[in-house]
Amino acid sequence: MQATRFVLEQHEIPTHWYNVVADIPNPPLPPLGPDGKPVGPEQMLAIFPGPILEQEMSGERWIPIPDEVREIYRLWRPSPLMRAVRLEQALGTPARIYYKNEGVSPAGSHKPNTAVPQAYYNKQVGIKRLTTETGAGQWGSSMAFAGQMFGLEVRVYMVKVSYQQKPFRRSMMQTWGAEVLASPTDRTQAGRGILAAHPDSDGSLGIAISEAVEEAAGRPDTNYCLGSVLNHVLLHQTIIGLEARKQFEKAGDWPDVIFGPCGGGSSFGGIALPFLADKAAGKTPNLRLVAVEPTSCPTLTRGAYAYDYGDATGYTPIMKMYTLGHDFMPPGIHAGGLRYHGDSPLVSQLVHEGLMEAVAVPQVATFEAGVLFARAEGIVPAPESCHAIRAAIDEALRCKATGEPKTILFNLTGHGHFDMASYDRFFSGKLEDFDYPAEAIQESLRHLPKVD
Ligand SMILES: *Cc1c(COP(=O)(O)O)cnc(C)c1O
Repeated sequence: MQATRFVLEQHEIPTHWYNVVADIPNPPLPPLGPDGKPVGPEQMLAIFPGPILEQEMSGERWIPIPDEVREIYRLWRPSPLMRAVRLEQALGTPARIYYKNEGVSPAGSHKPNTAVPQAYYNKQVGIKRLTTETGAGQWGSSMAFAGQMFGLEVRVYMVKVSYQQKPFRRSMMQTWGAEVLASPTDRTQAGRGILAAHPDSDGSLGIAISEAVEEAAGRPDTNYCLGSVLNHVLLHQTIIGLEARKQFEKAGDWPDVIFGPCGGGSSFGGIALPFLADKAAGKTPNLRLVAVEPTSCPTLTRGAYAYDYGDATGYTPIMKMYTLGHDFMPPGIHAGGLRYHGDSPLVSQLVHEGLMEAVAVPQVATFEAGVLFARAEGIVPAPESCHAIRAAIDEALRCKATGEPKTILFNLTGHGHFDMASYDRFFSGKLEDFDYPAEAIQESLRHLPKVD
């Protein structure tokens, strides 16, 4: 019988994360404060612990993973690398399709890979409480779980529309002991400002970030955690690609192209960056690393490469990244984890420099791909992951047309067990495609901060 599942033992969980900054052609640009100068560590220390800030700015290639973190990782890691032979057969493609299954974590996605070390380092410096935001609930549940592992209190500002539509994600966070508030709230200046202007606001990720950051900045016992975008988050997520490399060695194969869904870029960076070193060194010049985003929130494919705020109200430092403008309001698509106006500065830079690529796919086609995958491989994927599956299937169909036996890898970033209402809408024909109008993008790009 042909092997389709490539597993590692617990002792093979990587001992170090990989920091791509050591190997890329140009150094990353620093975040800037309101005065237009690089943000000093003092300001960042109000909301992040020292060890995380060191990682954020580090140029070291390998960063050790603390034993306490590896001990929690072993609850679900190493995650399996699977060859999707039944999907290959269903497509009739000569391509070999592999996926890394990050849906096996307690919270059901890749996000605990960074939530756990973030909780650990905060605990280490004596922090008692953590604040964060969540859109669809994946990040909030990961932080709730991680806080529980280290005995920290967690308060989650959850985008109001998701709070109402995803009650079970909320109960999951409560099961792990977190407090969940519907954002905008009247507890922060940022929230009160939004409510005064828009009393019926559905909330947005940007607003929830403003609330969580404001609270953390105002309390010495409290820090803030971000689930994507920043360098340290991508660093922690490289465990995905590092494991995948070992698994491909066992499989006696190597990817020609890697697809990952891309919201803030952490899971895409996590699977792709450990393979980028070879490409940057000229060893695998034809390897393609492709971020897949929705046509309704086309940051990398249609945004501007410019300095912008990370949140909606201009509370955070500005970062050089692809952005649709910080006050861009993405439509209520069903891949909540991909509704972010900006993108990781590292991924943005590498796309800008041509070492990585990006494509955008429409919503209905992503669900078609997800259903095809579920019927072949059994796993019901998260709507975010369906974006990578769509792109992987399209590539496999191109291989069918040309006869090329390429090796395709995609990141199955999560399962879709909390997203069945979205599948329902797809089955009843109620899902729509939405291409963001160019004028609307131009309009929100007019509000970018001015930088010399
Ligand atoms: C959050 C999320 C994403 C997108 O976030 P990134 O930081 O871009 O990885 C993708 N898939 C799932 C299942 C998610 O929960």
